[in-house]
Amino acid sequence: MLDNIRIVLVNTFHPGNIGAAARAMKNMGLTRLYLVSPKDYPSFEASQRASSATDVLENAVVVDTLAEALEGCSLVTGTTARLRAVRWPQVDSRECGELLFEESEQHEVALVFGRERTGLHNEELELCQYLVNIPTSEAYTSLNVASAVQVLSYEIFMASRKGQAPVEKKAGKKEKADRPATADQLEGMYGHFFDTMQGLDYFGERNPEYVMRRLRCLFGRSRTSLREVQILRGLLSAAQGRKQKPRE
Ligand code: SAH
Repeated sequence: MLDNIRIVLVNTFHPGNIGAAARAMKNMGLTRLYLVSPKDYPSFEASQRASSATDVLENAVVVDTLAEALEGCSLVTGTTARLRAVRWPQVDSRECGELLFEESEQHEVALVFGRERTGLHNEELELCQYLVNIPTSEAYTSLNVASAVQVLSYEIFMASRKGQAPVEKKAGKKEKADRPATADQLEGMYGHFFDTMQGLDYFGERNPEYVMRRLRCLFGRSRTSLREVQILRGLLSAAQGRKQKPRE
């Protein structure tokens, strides 16, 4: 699905930023880079900064105008460091990730980034249906362009993972013991606590119901694992005088 998403860099001045953007994209599963009149490209510095994402650079499509980069796209979003007078619908980075991912399930979409110094010009923004702003501190709202690519690629990636069940590894015996204990395992432990405390004459003046409820709250909050239940029950057995091993 992410194959339908284009990252478009307009008039990038520093080749290092192009390389860093390619790397940011590949980390997040994006591969389609469009370069509109880059100042200095191809370049050694771009390849260096791309690290293991030189394939994204090699497959980049270089064009003269933004309009060419957007051919075939049914949704175009443009990024901006400043929120402007509301002439465009505006979304934040999270909403942008969701919007682009959803649309990309059906159609080609593009996310456009501007020049390091002057961003996107008005005639370029006119080609965008939405403006995207990454929320920042008011003291400094302008991110490095490759950092902006990183944040928005991450949001697209996270949107693509939503709703997907996490991949469950087949748990071995060891992992099973690390899972949260089941209700019956916890009940067994509470019963064991109760018997032990009673055996030790712990309750005395104390209200057993209250004490047991507090213990349930404590272990409930901590999502106790089976392994931990086993440790505690071993301790309780020892306190009961059973299974007590002489100290070595
Ligand atoms: N002075 C320019 C700053 C350009 S920063 C301006 O005001 O637009 C270079 C590019 O990085 C921007 O064109 C945009 O693509 C991206 N960018 C930087 N900060 C951003 C932010 N807070 N939200 C979204 N994109 C941002």
